[in-house]
Amino acid sequence: MPETIGFLKPRQAVLDRRREIIADLADLLPEGCLISEERGLKPFETDAFLAYRRMPLAVALPETTEQVAAVLKYCSRYGVPVVPRGAGTSLSGGAIPQEDAVVIGLSKMSRILDIDLFNRTATVQAGVTNLNISEAVGADGFFYAPDPSSQLACTIGGNIGMNSGGAHCLKYGVTTNNLLGVRMVLFDGTVIELGGKALDAPGYDLLGLVCGSEGQLGIVTEATVRLIAKPEGARPVLFGFASSEAAGSCVADIIGSGIIPVAIEFMDKPAIEICEAFAHAGYPLDVEALLIVEVEGSEPEMDAMLEGIIEIARRHGVATIKESQSALEAALIWKGRKSAFGATGRVADYICMDGTVPLSQLSHVLRRTGEIVAGYGLRVANVFHAGDGNMHPLILYNINDSEDAARAEAAGNDILKLCVDAGGCLTGEHGVGIEKRDLMLHQYSRADLDQQMAARAAFDPDWIMNPSKVFPLEGRPAA
Ligand SMILES: Cc1cc2nc3c(=O)[nH]c(=O)nc-3n(C[C@H](O)[C@H](O)[C@H](O)COP(=O)(O)OP(=O)(O)OC[C@H]3O[C@@H](n4cnc5c(N)ncnc54)[C@H](O)[C@@H]3O)c2cc1C
Repeated sequence: MPETIGFLKPRQAVLDRRREIIADLADLLPEGCLISEERGLKPFETDAFLAYRRMPLAVALPETTEQVAAVLKYCSRYGVPVVPRGAGTSLSGGAIPQEDAVVIGLSKMSRILDIDLFNRTATVQAGVTNLNISEAVGADGFFYAPDPSSQLACTIGGNIGMNSGGAHCLKYGVTTNNLLGVRMVLFDGTVIELGGKALDAPGYDLLGLVCGSEGQLGIVTEATVRLIAKPEGARPVLFGFASSEAAGSCVADIIGSGIIPVAIEFMDKPAIEICEAFAHAGYPLDVEALLIVEVEGSEPEMDAMLEGIIEIARRHGVATIKESQSALEAALIWKGRKSAFGATGRVADYICMDGTVPLSQLSHVLRRTGEIVAGYGLRVANVFHAGDGNMHPLILYNINDSEDAARAEAAGNDILKLCVDAGGCLTGEHGVGIEKRDLMLHQYSRADLDQQMAARAAFDPDWIMNPSKVFPLEGRPAA
């Protein structure tokens, strides 16, 4: 498809030294930790933002913090751009490389270093998957709360890069609320430690700055995260509605009433049909919109919370209420929701938007989203974290039809602008990446962006770290 988003022009001096760079990097890494053959580089050309791809110069797969530092020191010395990579599941193109870049993949750094149940923390290498942490402490009655639907594959380093969220973040917060410390390598190979096991740290909150910085401030090699005690019980309940607007205003009223369930997820009819066909989760097929509301706690606590939620849902004309009756039913309900993107991929190509809106705007933005996408002659399926107002319209299109693809991209941009205009923002959890980079001036003033770039420059004065992402190419300081 024709590309509408530009990448930075590759640095010719770097391309001219390709062979030498590869030979030098091979000397810095153990055998088997550098990929430079075209066939081996192919899987690193793109991430889950599949419409764009670039072949990197090489891929380094270090095994230790010291090796990450050695590669970064070398790259900064010779002005070689670097793209950090976890599992490459970014939906905004955050891990897509460029032709003059060395990808530094953290997949070989996948050890759990310390589990401290007394202090309720886990320290892990950056390549450990999100789900691995909960699996490692599950038998002891703990879990790691942020749960992106990609949690089987995505890494804690990538989660920090994007400040990732998930269905259960409504109650427990996103990555930044569950991250206590990192070990990180700066652009020139310097290793720094931010935060730690104890709460809060004196001085500036650099940990907060690093979380969500999309691999531009350094490479995280280790992270210390908060562990949470599992609740006594948890119950997902399905609420079916005759319209998306009714479901949307029900969500706003639940949160407005002060009740905070652990999760409120939304699906419209196309999403219900796609997910039910894949997971056979027992979703009602005769409604236009579905909420999955999960409450947790003791049985009386869950009953009391549900009573309040059901009363609000009735005021919004709920058509179906179905409580899960067993652990198996509950697991199926979540399987359907968490497989939504993969299940959608079975029926069509899609791009996934990630705008966030104030809950009072949810119904309006849902209706306008449908109108915008229909205006481009396309279809949309909505499945998202409604309690957070974090919307994920999946715009369905044909990736092999360039006009279709251009229409999908244009519709996506209109939707994200709609979210900003409704008082929300361009991204709730997937990051800016390359996808939303050129919309940043719709969200921020030039002065706002200049200040963010100044903070970035304090960490990476030569702009070698993931340079094509986050900030519009125009208005950057001269390289
Ligand atoms: C099917 C599917 C479902 C998804 N569901 C969710 C969801 O529910 N919630 C959600 O938030 N996201 C979701 N995502 C998006 C994606 O999984 C997250 O953004 C995830 O955190 C990316 O992790 P990763 O390991 O794949 O990182 P990558 O995609 O490899 O990288 C992501 C970003 O982090 C940077 N980075 C990676 N590792 C490091 C490191 N060690 N140090 C510094 N920077 C680093 C990269 O440069 C890049 O900018 C989903 C994606 C898919 C494909």
